[in-house]
Amino acid sequence: MENKMGGPWTKRKILKVFPRLFDPLGFLLPYVMTARNVFSAVARGVANWDEKLAPAKLVRWHQWLQQLEELQQVRIPCCIKAQVDLERAELHVFTDASSESYATVAYLLTQDRSGTRAARMVMSRGKVAPPNNHSIPRLELMGARLGIQLGEVVQRAVKVPLSDIFYWTDSLNVLFWLRNENRRLQTFVDNKVRQIRSKTNIDQWKWVPTKQNPADLPTRGAGPGELARHELWWHGPSYLRLPPQDWPQAPRLQPCEKGLRELRKVEQVFVHFGNPVLAEEEAIFPFNRCGTWRKAVRVARLLLSWRARARRQPEPGEREGEKLLQKQIQLRYRQAMKQPTEGRLRQLGLHKLGPFLDEAGLLRGRGRLVHVAALSRDTREPLFLPREHAGRRLLIAHLHREDARHVGGVNQTLARLHEQFWMAKPRQVVFRVLQECIPCRRPTRPREGPLPDFRVPLPQEEPLAFTHTGMDCAGPFRVRRGRSEELHYLLLLTCC
Ligand SMILES: [Zn+2]
Repeated sequence: MENKMGGPWTKRKILKVFPRLFDPLGFLLPYVMTARNVFSAVARGVANWDEKLAPAKLVRWHQWLQQLEELQQVRIPCCIKAQVDLERAELHVFTDASSESYATVAYLLTQDRSGTRAARMVMSRGKVAPPNNHSIPRLELMGARLGIQLGEVVQRAVKVPLSDIFYWTDSLNVLFWLRNENRRLQTFVDNKVRQIRSKTNIDQWKWVPTKQNPADLPTRGAGPGELARHELWWHGPSYLRLPPQDWPQAPRLQPCEKGLRELRKVEQVFVHFGNPVLAEEEAIFPFNRCGTWRKAVRVARLLLSWRARARRQPEPGEREGEKLLQKQIQLRYRQAMKQPTEGRLRQLGLHKLGPFLDEAGLLRGRGRLVHVAALSRDTREPLFLPREHAGRRLLIAHLHREDARHVGGVNQTLARLHEQFWMAKPRQVVFRVLQECIPCRRPTRPREGPLPDFRVPLPQEEPLAFTHTGMDCAGPFRVRRGRSEELHYLLLLTCC
């Protein structure tokens, strides 16, 4: 067909032609969608609305134009329900997608007293796929969501009480995602699935074989001539006229590779709570992944609370969490204490400590204060802290930050450490931890400016006080005097 507007085809001219087809209910959607897809393909990469389009791009457009005259063949029945004795009405919404577009079409299924069932197409909708290169399973899910929207519109518009509403898709991925209860999905899919699940019941979703899915037609495209005779498009699949038990059954819901990609990876968590000794006798605690001692205690409490819940024991407190961490830190040394020999203790640097395992299994030492009853147990029999363990950095930083509040430097932190722990050559370790403490890093002082001449009197001069004066003022300050309030200013005079 020639361009009746004159001149070559441009984006602007194409957009002047196909939107003129007035089809608010989407009876001609397969034909209209073809034009929309053609326009979207033609327009991609052409910025100028009046630029002449290359002939290679216009092949599908010319085919579409040639089919325009076939529109006369299309006859649309006005009445969509059984004329008399309506017994039951159902709404069936079909959805589908292709790489170019996604679409949905709704049918009203009526049954009269004699049991005769008939379906008529009510309305359809379609959209061109967004240019984000979504996978076909994702587009099918978007089609399913469009189906829900169409279902709502039709329900409001059709003045027939509906007994049931069913949604049909040929995508096993979509059905798998909708039925999935356990696995987490990628955000895009998860959001759409939530929207669909919030508005429909999972039993309303059915599977239709692709060849019997009328929503496949608008995503593929069809000319008006083909559409006029298309039984599937106007009346839906033939099985709708059968009782529900004869409808097609979905095969096993096995998503394809692209569908599986939307499942989030399961993070594996190993929890040892079968044997309580086991957890404490293996180096399981991820000290390197905890930024602070407080966080490590929180994680330890979480581990213990799983074990406690499984055994119906009371929730563990902070002290239990700390105890688990201390056992983990002392692990290698506690194991050596099971068969202590003089040589082994000397090798581990424990021989001076008088080490023993307390009733909780923690490694303690006997210092010179062991008989001073007024002191706490931890001070009399300090806990052993190995120098090389990753956990001791967290602990020392915690003592410095939380107990000493960054005050006092190495000595203060050491004093706090000795109240509870024994560690060989601790000063070096504490010094290194404190060096990394950012709040304790002193800002470098700015270099002071040179003194003015009058500030440095010559030896023979005897300047009087306040010969040279520096002046500063501040305020106002609100000062209460009786019931009234006054504003005061401060003037500061400094002898230089
Ligand atoms: Zn600090």
